[in-house]
Amino acid sequence: MSDRLRLMCVHAHPDDESSKGAATMARYVDEGHEVLVVSCTGGERGEVLNPRLKNDVHILRDLVQVRRDEMAAARAVLGVQHTWLGFVDSGLPEGDPPPPLPEGCFALEPLAVTTEALVREIRRFRPHVVTTYDENGGYPHPDHIMCHDVSMAAVVAAGDPQAFPHAGPAWQPLKVYYNQTFSRARIEAFHEALTALGEESPYHEWLENWSRPDRTVTTRVECSAWFERRDAALLAHATQIDPDGTWFRVPRAVQQEVWPTEDFEAALSFVPIAEGEDDLFAGLPTDVAAADALATGGSLTIVHDTRTERTP
Ligand SMILES: [Zn+2]
Repeated sequence: MSDRLRLMCVHAHPDDESSKGAATMARYVDEGHEVLVVSCTGGERGEVLNPRLKNDVHILRDLVQVRRDEMAAARAVLGVQHTWLGFVDSGLPEGDPPPPLPEGCFALEPLAVTTEALVREIRRFRPHVVTTYDENGGYPHPDHIMCHDVSMAAVVAAGDPQAFPHAGPAWQPLKVYYNQTFSRARIEAFHEALTALGEESPYHEWLENWSRPDRTVTTRVECSAWFERRDAALLAHATQIDPDGTWFRVPRAVQQEVWPTEDFEAALSFVPIAEGEDDLFAGLPTDVAAADALATGGSLTIVHDTRTERTP
């Protein structure tokens, strides 16, 4: 495999990068590739989810800065590059009916504005591969759904020299994947492993109420040796994760044995997606200059396209 191919991972909030694809990113960094995390929002409307930090006045006084500091710590653990797209967290509207989204939030920004911001970043970093969320957001938070919409609009626009001409020279990412680590099959495997160990599984209710349809996983990246880094990055987001919660209930050694991969769904690609793919860079030229030439050559044809409408 070639060195220094470039991977961009687009996420909605700081901490999403550490729970979705983090071990894969750490592996690619260690193998000499460049990895950039883009956080669309600053996570301004997040709550303190760690019971040990709930009433910390220092944290409550400036949660926004605390989350910036946490992201910097996670970035250092994973060894990735990081940039803020600069939009404001929409918050998760709760209630029946849900309240309207707050004015000025990411999910209410005009798509042309948010898309241009990401196009600028794509043309600057020049990723060969981009990851984002599926059309349902992977999780029904308005920022996760918008993260998908912006990512898909931007990967197409970035390669079009007519689109956003002031945002830099055209660059076509060659493959786009959706994070699909949170599959029913994986949670079931953990549930069964815990039960077999005679331990209480926290997943019973989650599985009983599972309503999301199964997705097509095209690509499984073996990254079990990086699970420790993934967990350390997640814990760096100290306000956002309960260290005694369900995240850490499955012993790492069990995870490494039962489900040693992080999983992805190829959504759009200009190179073929092979059956049983195990590498996000598979199918690309092994020489970086050749891959760069492909991304700027302007004579590309889509050969894999499973983009679909959002389910209502
Ligand atoms: Zn999020």
